[in-house]
Amino acid sequence: MGRYSAFAIAKQAFSHHKGWDRAWPSPEPKPEYDVVIVGAGGHGLATAYYLAKNHGVRKVAVIEKGWLGGGNTGRNTTIIRSNYLQPSSMAIFEKARSLYEDLSQEFNYNIMFSPRGVLMLAQTEHELRAWKRTYHANRIAGIESEMVTPRQIKEIVPIINLSGPRYPVLGGLWQPRGGTARHDAVAWGYARGAAEMGVDIIQQCEVTGVDRDAEGVTGVQTTKGAIRTKKLCIVVAGNSGVMAERAGFRLPVESVALQALVSEPIKPAMDCVVMANTVHGYMSQSDKGEMVIGGGADGFNNYTQRGSFHHIEETLRALVETFPMISRLKMLRQWGGVVDMTGDRSPIIGTTPVPGVFINCGWGTGGFKAIPGSGWATAEMVAKGTPGDLAAPFSLDRFTEGRMIDESVAAAVAH
Ligand SMILES: Cc1cc2nc3c(=O)[nH]c(=O)nc-3n(C[C@H](O)[C@H](O)[C@H](O)COP(=O)(O)OP(=O)(O)OC[C@H]3O[C@@H](n4cnc5c(N)ncnc54)[C@H](O)[C@@H]3O)c2cc1C
Repeated sequence: MGRYSAFAIAKQAFSHHKGWDRAWPSPEPKPEYDVVIVGAGGHGLATAYYLAKNHGVRKVAVIEKGWLGGGNTGRNTTIIRSNYLQPSSMAIFEKARSLYEDLSQEFNYNIMFSPRGVLMLAQTEHELRAWKRTYHANRIAGIESEMVTPRQIKEIVPIINLSGPRYPVLGGLWQPRGGTARHDAVAWGYARGAAEMGVDIIQQCEVTGVDRDAEGVTGVQTTKGAIRTKKLCIVVAGNSGVMAERAGFRLPVESVALQALVSEPIKPAMDCVVMANTVHGYMSQSDKGEMVIGGGADGFNNYTQRGSFHHIEETLRALVETFPMISRLKMLRQWGGVVDMTGDRSPIIGTTPVPGVFINCGWGTGGFKAIPGSGWATAEMVAKGTPGDLAAPFSLDRFTEGRMIDESVAAAVAH
C-alpha cells in the first residue's frame, strides 16, 4: 500500500487520481490462522494491529459480518477523555488518550484527533462533589484535569446558558487535552496499518459458530467456511452475548440501543465538547459545522440500531435548556448503536471459561475513547495467553469475586 503525502497527491493529480492503491486489501479467508478476531470495530482492529506491531503475531484474521467500522465505532459521538474515577480505568483510558495524540503520524493517515477540551458540567451539589472527587483522583494519577467555575465555563463556552430553568451550572470538570477524532478514520487507520503488516481483514463474513474439543477452541464456522485457530478473540460490542453463547459461556452484559443525532451545519459556534449529565445532553461541533448531539440509552434490552423516539425529545429539551441557540436548528440525521453494558459500567477484557477464547467487551456507551489502549492491552493478553497490568483488573471473574470497578458515576450514560 502506497504512503500518503503531499508529493503523492501531486503525482496522482497528473493521472486524474486514478492510480491510488486500495486503502486495504480484501482477501478471502485462509484455512488456518494463529489468531482469529471476531469484529472489525475499532477494538478488534486495534487488537490485530498491536498483535502484529508489538508482538510480531501476523497470521491474524479479523472477521467482520458487515463492513469494517460499521458497528458502534462508526456510530458514536467521538468523545475522547481519560478523567475517570477508578485507578484501573484511568490507566487504560489515559493510555488510549496518549496513544491518540500520535496516531495520525503513526498510521500515515489523518484520524483528525482534535484535543479541543472536554467539559463536564456540574448542575447539582451532588454532581459538583462527584466531579471534585474525580478531579482529586485524576491529580493523584497524574491525569491533567481541572475544576472550573461558572465564570470560567462562560469564557470557555460563550453560547452556554448558566442559569437553566431546572438546573443552574454550578461548576465543571475540564480536561483540556480531551477532545474528539474522526471515528471512521480511526477504524480505517488501524485497518490499513494491520493489513500492511499481514493481517487479513475479511468483511461480509459472519462467525456463526465456535468449534471446540476437550482442550479448548479449535476454530470457527463462518458464512465463508470453517477456519481453524487455537486462539479466538471476541470483540463484538452489542453482539457479545450472542457470540459468547455460540462459544459456550455466558456474560454479565446487557445490550441496549444508544442514539445520537446531528444538526444542519452552522458556522463555528463551540470549540470544545460539553457534557451535561444531569439534564442529559452532550454536544460538540464537527469540522463540517454540524452540532453532534448524544442522546440516551433505551431503558430496555434490544438490538435495534435506531433507538426510541422519546430520547430525541428528551435530549433536545436538555440541550435547548443548556444552549438556547440550538432551538432554531434543524436536525438532519438520527441513528443508534447497540451498546454492551456491564453492571459496574466498566469493560471486560479477559480469558473466558473456554480455553483459547478471549473476550473484549462491555465498553457500553464510552469505548471509542479507549480503542488504542484497549487494543494494546488485548493484544498483549492474546499474545501471552494471560492479561498484563492494563487488562488484568477488567477480567471476567471480577463479577464472581465481587471486585467491581464502579464507573457508574464517571461513565453513567454520558461519554
Ligand atoms: C450513539 C453512540 C454514541 C457513542 N458515543 C461515544 C463517545 O462519544 N465516546 C466514546 O468513547 N464512546 C462512545 N460510544 C461507544 C463506542 O462507540 C463503543 O464503545 C465502541 O465503538 C465499541 O467498539 P467495538 O470495536 O467494541 O464495537 P463495534 O464498533 O460495534 O464493532 C463490533 C463489530 O463486530 C461485528 N460483529 C458482531 N457480531 C459478529 C459476528 N458474529 N461475526 C462477525 N462480526 C460480528 C459487528 O458487525 C461490528 O462491526 C458511543 C456509542 C453509540 C452507539
